[in-house]
Amino acid sequence: MTERRGDHLWRPYTQMKLAAPPLEAVATLGSRITLADGRELIDGIASWWTAVHGYNHPHIREAVGNQLGQMPHVMFGGLTHAPAERLATRLAALLPGELNHVFFTDSGSVAVEVALKMAVQFWLNRGVQGRTRVLAFRGGYHGDTMGAMSACDPVEGMHHRFGAYLPAQVFCELPRMPEQEAALDKALTTHRRELAAVIVEPLVQGAGGMLMHPPETLATVARLCRRHGLPLIADEIFTGFGRTGMMFACEQAGIVPDILCLSKALTGGTMALAATVATTEIFTAFWSDDPAHALMHGPTFMANPLACAAANASLDLFETEPRLAQANAIEKRLTKGLEPLRGAAGVVDVRVLGAIGAVQLGGMPNLAALKSRFVEHGVWVRPFGDVVYLTPALTISDSDLDRLTDVVRLVIGKGM
Ligand code: PLP
Repeated sequence: MTERRGDHLWRPYTQMKLAAPPLEAVATLGSRITLADGRELIDGIASWWTAVHGYNHPHIREAVGNQLGQMPHVMFGGLTHAPAERLATRLAALLPGELNHVFFTDSGSVAVEVALKMAVQFWLNRGVQGRTRVLAFRGGYHGDTMGAMSACDPVEGMHHRFGAYLPAQVFCELPRMPEQEAALDKALTTHRRELAAVIVEPLVQGAGGMLMHPPETLATVARLCRRHGLPLIADEIFTGFGRTGMMFACEQAGIVPDILCLSKALTGGTMALAATVATTEIFTAFWSDDPAHALMHGPTFMANPLACAAANASLDLFETEPRLAQANAIEKRLTKGLEPLRGAAGVVDVRVLGAIGAVQLGGMPNLAALKSRFVEHGVWVRPFGDVVYLTPALTISDSDLDRLTDVVRLVIGKGM
């Protein structure tokens, strides 16, 4: 076997025997990715939905540079530091209701693991045994670690072949219709002694296919959780920080979950950081004279000072620059640019919410061909399954955004 460039790298979600070699990126700025061969691509997906301020924002760069000179990292067990303290205080102030207690980790999947552990131990600490399962929704995606995988869609989801190794959770359809609401209510009643929590992606199931549901559906989930006395975990790892048009998608439905997970855009897409935020009620169940009631979790790089500095700088930008107005303007432009595809041959649906636009195709396209077609047209768009989607930086220029929707229309309009 001849050795190829990249042979030592094992790439994500990739059948490496079949896939074309990856493109080499050498620089990023704003909404642009520069490749080693000199080509420049307009990024339509903001690096897996993270780079909300565009790439390489000088304010974040400066904050991380200053922190790098002072203290790049220090363990968080028994020590604390100003960037983490400040970030936790700011997140608690920004988040709705009594979401006041912030546990930092280093990836979205781990933030979900922590949320699941918090929910299970919440009951144990209150002396209730047996509540070890969560109710999750069909179409959902919560990450790639074992607990997070167990809450992903068990049939359509990318992790279905691990089913036998994962904790068995309870699954329902999102309650969009009265019958689904009744089914959810019934499942919550049937499993009431074994459920620790309900987990949901507010307003948009991202990796499940950019499936959007109205605020009323989320409000129904929250109401049923209250009725059944169950904590609600909101996974805002994709939706948090302006992606759906408000700072947090939960706010659009006027609900306050008991536990909320953040990552991705938390650092403006620059560093690995995540947060699992709990209400005072959840936290109180861990506040005890009994050492066994402590939350036993602590990743080595939790609350990394560089990442916290980046996140603080990112929050500054939400205060000083009109990100939410930009998200709302993007919604209008995405609608204008993608709606003409509704009814086109091979198009089943067009969905837009905030800075998320999705075009659902009728059949499974040749993904590799589709991806390279986009690159040929100078844009970085990575469809998954039968969905072509755009989740640009909130700072993208009108002309770059129009170019993205023009290319999507062109490529899809040509019947792929
Ligand atoms: N939860 C949601 C809703 C996500 O969209 C993702 C990632 O796409 C995750 C969890 C997992 O995050 P990470 O890839 O950082 O582990």
